[in-house]
Amino acid sequence: TIRTRFAPSPTGLLHVGNARAALFNFLYARHHGGQFLLRIEDTDRERSTQHAVDVLLDGLKWMGLTPDEEPVFQSTRQQRHTEVAQDLLERGLAYRCYCTPEELTAMREKAMAEKRPPRYDGTWRDRDPSEAPEGVPFAVRLKAPRDGETIIKDLVQGDVRVANAEMDDLIILRSDGTPTYLHAVVCDDHDMGITHVMRGDDHLTNTFRQAMIYRAMGWDLPHFAHLPLIHGPDGAKLSKRHGAASVVDFREEGYLPEALCNYLLRLGWGHGDAEILSREDQIRLFDLDGVGRSPSRMDYAKLSHFNSVWMRQADDARLTDDVIERLKNREGVVVNDATHSRILALMPGLKERAKTLVELTENAAFAGYTLPLSFTPKAEKLLGEDGQSVLKGIRASLAALPDFTPEAVDGALRAYAEANALKLGSVAQPLRAAMTGSTTSPGIDLTLAALGQDEVLARIDSAIS
Ligand code: GLU
Repeated sequence: TIRTRFAPSPTGLLHVGNARAALFNFLYARHHGGQFLLRIEDTDRERSTQHAVDVLLDGLKWMGLTPDEEPVFQSTRQQRHTEVAQDLLERGLAYRCYCTPEELTAMREKAMAEKRPPRYDGTWRDRDPSEAPEGVPFAVRLKAPRDGETIIKDLVQGDVRVANAEMDDLIILRSDGTPTYLHAVVCDDHDMGITHVMRGDDHLTNTFRQAMIYRAMGWDLPHFAHLPLIHGPDGAKLSKRHGAASVVDFREEGYLPEALCNYLLRLGWGHGDAEILSREDQIRLFDLDGVGRSPSRMDYAKLSHFNSVWMRQADDARLTDDVIERLKNREGVVVNDATHSRILALMPGLKERAKTLVELTENAAFAGYTLPLSFTPKAEKLLGEDGQSVLKGIRASLAALPDFTPEAVDGALRAYAEANALKLGSVAQPLRAAMTGSTTSPGIDLTLAALGQDEVLARIDSAIS
């Protein structure tokens, strides 16, 4: 069965490029009825704090990419990595290298002076181990093949090859005894039974070296799929200076996880002209044939469009809870049960108009305003002489309504407009200003009904000077 994995290093961020790799691995495994696993590559003990690990786990959970087995922490596997290196040593497929840092630097400088790529020159590969100096720490190097070529049949990039002569004997254990990243990844992917490795194409050159370790151990190579990176709108690698670049950023800026996942999927993968896809559809349709080979450019406007579509489909109670969270600690806004039920009632109208949860929150905030409101200049204008007389006039009809439903409110406004030969807008606009302090809101009937009769009358009174 197919087993994929996401193998992030905890850095304190979950970059969307990595998040997309996680999504592809997840979808591929699900599509083929296999398993999606998580390995936390926490060998850099300084960076891998609990916080950094939590950022990864929270981000994946938020995106609905839960692994099928407990996460594997790479740092716990060091003994196994050492054993494998030992095994290679014993079988003569790896050797101890006693070069000192000074010798290695000299080797590099010589190569550079001769305009050759700086490669390890094989000093200890061919030397008799009995010449080993005493008490000098050694690194373990793989005896890499020198002839022929290494070919990776990449499921996205096609066949990629390198002449073995161009590669040197890579270190698998450092002189302090710790495994190198390349070695650890191979041991772990093998032991976890990974069949498909999908990751950023910046790892392509590592793959040649990893393939050499697999071959030396006589292990089957997994299938590889190297995914093109995500670039910013200007074509440079996506980073914070382009805007949101990590999952936490997108979350804060008010994107729904469904929208972000849907967008990241479409960025670099296509299936006909399908755009908005449910998770079920994504699983059903995803395969590597649809993955493009060139880097994709982040298009924030398109993401916003996806987000507005997903928001319109989202459950009102869920959106309300999110907005309420965002309104907490905001000056001039009371967040209590009344605010909650007002926003819930307004939600069908609010969610039609916003592209992000941040915008949605802006537009919903009036539900919790305390009196007196502060008015935008445009709203101020609507509350001039004409506006004042509308508010005074309509107050009595609104106060007299037995049921304060949107229909009842609408009826009252229409009757008032007709009786006074006014356009409905001339009645609605001053009311809107009095209710929200601004000139935009969902339909006026919905807005008044959501605020409730008492609050509407209080806001009218407060706006009548
Ligand atoms: N820890 C590596 C990274 O985050 C993993 C690469 C891989 O998937 O093998 O880039």
